Formats: sequence, structure tokens, C-alpha cells
Amino acid sequence: MKRRDKAARIGEILDELYPEPPIPLDHVDPFTLLVSVMLSAQTTDKKVNEVTPALFADASDPKSMAALPVEKILGHIRTVGLAPTKARNLKKMAQQLLDDHGGEVPADIDLLEGLPGVGHKTASVVMCQAFGKPAFPVDTHIHRLAARWGLSDGNNVTRTEADLKKVFPEDTWIRRHLQIIYFGREHCPARGHDLRQCPICSWAASKKRIAEESRRR
Ligand code: SF4
Repeated sequence: MKRRDKAARIGEILDELYPEPPIPLDHVDPFTLLVSVMLSAQTTDKKVNEVTPALFADASDPKSMAALPVEKILGHIRTVGLAPTKARNLKKMAQQLLDDHGGEVPADIDLLEGLPGVGHKTASVVMCQAFGKPAFPVDTHIHRLAARWGLSDGNNVTRTEADLKKVFPEDTWIRRHLQIIYFGREHCPARGHDLRQCPICSWAASKKRIAEESRRR
């Protein structure tokens, strides 16, 4: 089956399973989303949503975040991974928004990537989820699933992103990204499970991969 046909069938399954996938990180505007996405690296969304209410009560805009001492930010986010680095980056990022962008989160992927602590994936999430601009954020989970489903043979997330953008129509990118995340969370356990039981891998994975996985069980 051609990659595009496969992607179309996968898209139908994902639309059926997750017709309107919600944004998992609680936020009220582009700034609070940007902060939440920055906090989510190597941390669950659930954990981020637990710490952001108190953080945003103290600082929910660039001006108040930039004014908050790093120690205070750290106190709010201590339970998330890489907290000291993230606390420093949040303050610097807020200050840069004030200095260079009039206190607004820019709706431009290059400008977003120029902010402290903001990489391509974080910038892509903000572009699509805050501004509704087509972007296809790819994390390691999406990268792995795209390979399992035979939609990409890229050996890095950059290549996988390019492949996924080719096979899925642009107006579906935003929801596909979320749907694949939800699918992975709900369906994909650790190694050694039966791919033949899966609504997607059962027909999309290569026979070789199905046999390999069966041997591991
Ligand atoms: S077979 Fe396993 S890894 Fe593949 S999509 Fe299904 S649950 Fe996920």
C-alpha cells in the first residue's frame, strides 16, 4: 500500500477514535500555553497541569513572569523534570518577549525558536495550538509510531516531520498530531505485545515487524 493511502486509512481510524482531540495542557492564551509546553519536556501533561494553576496565579503574563525571581518560579515547578533549567528559561523567555516582541508571543515559528528554552517542537505546538497555524510537532512517540506504521523511515524527528507533512493533508496536521499522541498513550504499551490485535499496526506494520514483536512476547 502506498504511504499516502496508508495515511488516509490511518486518518479515518484516528478520526473515528478521537473526533475532537482536546489540547491536553491547560492554558488560557498563547503565553500560558507556551509556558506549559516548555514545562512539559520530559514530564507528563498531568504533572504540568498540576503545577501551572499556582504558577499562573503568580505570573500569567510576560511582565509578571519576568519580574518573578527564579527561586519563586522554581518553587512552583519543582516537581517537574529539569525544573531548575526550566525556571531560568521561563524568566529569560518572558524578558525576551518584553524586550523584543512588545510583550506578545509571536505567531512566527522562527521568532518562537529564537526564545530561550524554546525548541522546534515547542514552537510547533504553539503555532498550531495557540494560533491555529499548520504545523506538525513530532516528539519521540510520534516518531516511533510513524516508523511502525510505515509512514516514515526517517532516523530523526526532522525527517519524520517532513514525511508526515507529505502524507497527511495540511488541514489535518493539527488534529493528527494530537490524535497520534492520544493513540500512543492509550494503545501502545511497552514492548512485547501482539501487533495483530492493534487497530492500526495489525495491517499497517510490516510482516517483519509483526513477527519480531511476536518473538519478544
Ligand atoms: S501495535 Fe502496538 S505499537 Fe503498534 S500502534 Fe498498536 S499498540 Fe501501538
